[in-house]
Amino acid sequence: MYPSEFDYERAETVDHALELLSGDPEAKIISGGHSLIPMMKSGLANPGTLVDIGEIDELTGIEWDDDTVSVGALTTYATIADDDELWDELPVLAEAAHEVGDIQVRNRGTIGGNVAHGDPASDLPAAVLAADATVVVQGPDGERRIDVDDFFLGMYATELGEDEILTGLEFPRSENATTTGAYVKKPSPSSGYALVGVAVSLEVDDGRIESARVAANGIMDHGVRLEPVEDGLVGESLDDVSFEDVAAVADEDLEEFMMMDDIQASAEFRAQLLKVYTEEALNDAVDRLDASLPTA
Ligand SMILES: Cc1cc2nc3c(=O)[nH]c(=O)nc-3n(C[C@H](O)[C@H](O)[C@H](O)COP(=O)(O)OP(=O)(O)OC[C@H]3O[C@@H](n4cnc5c(N)ncnc54)[C@H](O)[C@@H]3O)c2cc1C
Repeated sequence: MYPSEFDYERAETVDHALELLSGDPEAKIISGGHSLIPMMKSGLANPGTLVDIGEIDELTGIEWDDDTVSVGALTTYATIADDDELWDELPVLAEAAHEVGDIQVRNRGTIGGNVAHGDPASDLPAAVLAADATVVVQGPDGERRIDVDDFFLGMYATELGEDEILTGLEFPRSENATTTGAYVKKPSPSSGYALVGVAVSLEVDDGRIESARVAANGIMDHGVRLEPVEDGLVGESLDDVSFEDVAAVADEDLEEFMMMDDIQASAEFRAQLLKVYTEEALNDAVDRLDASLPTA
């Protein structure tokens, strides 16, 4: 199908993009276009103006300081998945980016577009929840910093206002403990999107789990934390904890009637996948930790 007619504007700066957005209530930002263009072609989105932010250099790239890793909104999955430092320090993000679509999608699609879009079957929401991100947005009234726990509201619904631009995400760096993590998913056989995806980020000190953030895609109408799993992990010794037992409560806090239930997988099947993939993600995270330890 063909999209309906629209105007096209290329923004030079974030302020310019905000100005263009304010000029048309039907305007939409375009980044990689890998969700928006298919939606326009199928008639699900009909923007009056496309505001292309793709050439705004300040929105691209990964920056490190003592406490934080900042990832610009336009940073592609390929850039994230090719970054060795991210695999070392924030493996949950690197692995989720690596799991998105195919190489063409990873070369064009952006972290900002993925998070802003709020698709429950996308890979990034769980990863940014597990990595404890702060979502940085710019609007007519200046900058807002949103805790990722407050960001995803529902299917394609986020805390981002129509007149705001997601400019980047910030991730805390661990001071003392070692961070490990993993992202695994059961891809839809037809689209490759997550039927269920589980992201894990653990801080481990001297063989003990100091903190745990575990989140899932594909199970509810937006990415969700799995707090019963986190509660079962914190304070446990890696030698003693049973990931099978911990993962068995993965769906405990989730309202069954709100679970995704469609032609691809019933809610019951997704709940079972959630437990299996939670256990797998935890095992992968710990294997990654073992692999990074020096051998005697
Ligand atoms: C064949 C195919 C397979 C795919 N497989 C997967 C997969 O396995 N896993 C997965 O997670 N995704 C998958 N995707 C989706 C892909 O990851 C998209 O790139 C992503 O969902 C949107 O990012 P984008 O940069 O392309 O955003 P766009 O398509 O440009 O925009 C998406 C939406 O977000 C808004 N937006 C974009 N950037 C910003 C911003 N900076 N600030 C405010 N609003 C913004 C737009 O207005 C639009 O509403 C697939 C896509 C295709 C075409």
